[in-house]
Amino acid sequence: MSLTTTDKRLVEPVKSFASGSDIRNLHKLHGQLTYIEQSKKEHAYSPAVVKLYDLALSYVADAETHARNGGRVARVMGPWMAPLMYAMDIVPIPLNELDRSGSDDTITIAEDHFQLPKETCSMVSSMLGDLYLHRDRPIKDLVVFNGRCEPLNIASDLVAAEGYRVHRIEAVNRPLDNDPERLAVTVRFLADELADLAIRLTGKPVDLARVEFEIARSNRILGKVRRIFDLRKSNPLYIKTLGTMFMVTGSANFFGKPEQYEATLDLLIEELITADYIRSARGKIVQLAWVGGRSPAFGLYKTIDDCGGAVTAWATPNSWSQDWPRARNPLESIALQILGKTGGNGLGSPVHRLKPIERLVNEFGASGIIFYSFLGCFRGVHQEIQRDHFQKLAIPSIGLEGTFHVGPPSGQLLTRIRAFIEMLS
Ligand code: SF4
Repeated sequence: MSLTTTDKRLVEPVKSFASGSDIRNLHKLHGQLTYIEQSKKEHAYSPAVVKLYDLALSYVADAETHARNGGRVARVMGPWMAPLMYAMDIVPIPLNELDRSGSDDTITIAEDHFQLPKETCSMVSSMLGDLYLHRDRPIKDLVVFNGRCEPLNIASDLVAAEGYRVHRIEAVNRPLDNDPERLAVTVRFLADELADLAIRLTGKPVDLARVEFEIARSNRILGKVRRIFDLRKSNPLYIKTLGTMFMVTGSANFFGKPEQYEATLDLLIEELITADYIRSARGKIVQLAWVGGRSPAFGLYKTIDDCGGAVTAWATPNSWSQDWPRARNPLESIALQILGKTGGNGLGSPVHRLKPIERLVNEFGASGIIFYSFLGCFRGVHQEIQRDHFQKLAIPSIGLEGTFHVGPPSGQLLTRIRAFIEMLS
């Protein structure tokens, strides 16, 4: 398979590392790209889905070109930063876009160069290794939430020594005991932190009218994502699992190109309204919800499709199922979103997410839930709380744990997914 120019971002980061690893990297790369290329072919009837993949693949490379040409780009943590960043003319790239370089060296680098213990969660190791590989590249700003995860805080300290500019947002949390007065204080504090961040990044206060414009744009786009999921209820295989995962991922940061992303959603809506029904080779379609982290092992999504499954409800960190919360000003609206007010994977108790997930499961007719977390992550506890809740509601679920860095899924994970879907068939 030849690599297109839009795939270059998956190749270029490894050039700065030992040349002996390049061949191995290309093999690994081949794995993830193969799934995307294969999915593009399967969706040949849909120019919109093909465009969606192209937007995703060109995201980081185009942002780097933008940075080289004098534009601003920042790596951000969490799916909540788009309105503020776009309001400052900064292209946001979420940290989980790291390790898309396809390098299998990232964890080794983290362990050797940063002396990370082997027990460190794979997300931290992969990101650290990849930030090291990207250290000579043009994106230097990193926006970090101190309250998100302590291992990630340590990782940000370590990469500061590699030439990155780390901008911290002080810790906030939304505990189970969600006293409204306390929440209001937390929201004001976080909104002030965001205002300070804007000054640190640009040297001046952010234009609040621009932030409002960007929140309105986000809400309009989320409305289109919901319309697509609604239309897909009667034709679940028109966009297969990997495609919907990319659509949900893009709904937070628009792959750096909000107008193009929105136009792609418009096209997808047009297609879905008149599309022929796509039958499952297995007859019945088993509708599923995916809750938790998104796996970078794309083989898992392909296995779901191949077994006659379809993920109809995604409850990942992006809260696409509701609009951004209303507040006294747009920065407080962002603060409420960060605190998980609309059911996203915010900074606080996982119990706040139970009802929003339940609504998603009911609305999209999922007959079973796949809970996904990363090995070594404290969010495994969240998963247990959530699984317990849905067990009491007699909704079948399966808990999967995988590693963060790009690679093939383990045979055990594939077997468990197959058995789960078979059980629900
Ligand atoms: S997987 Fe969990 S512990 Fe690891 S960096 Fe991500 S949130 Fe933190």
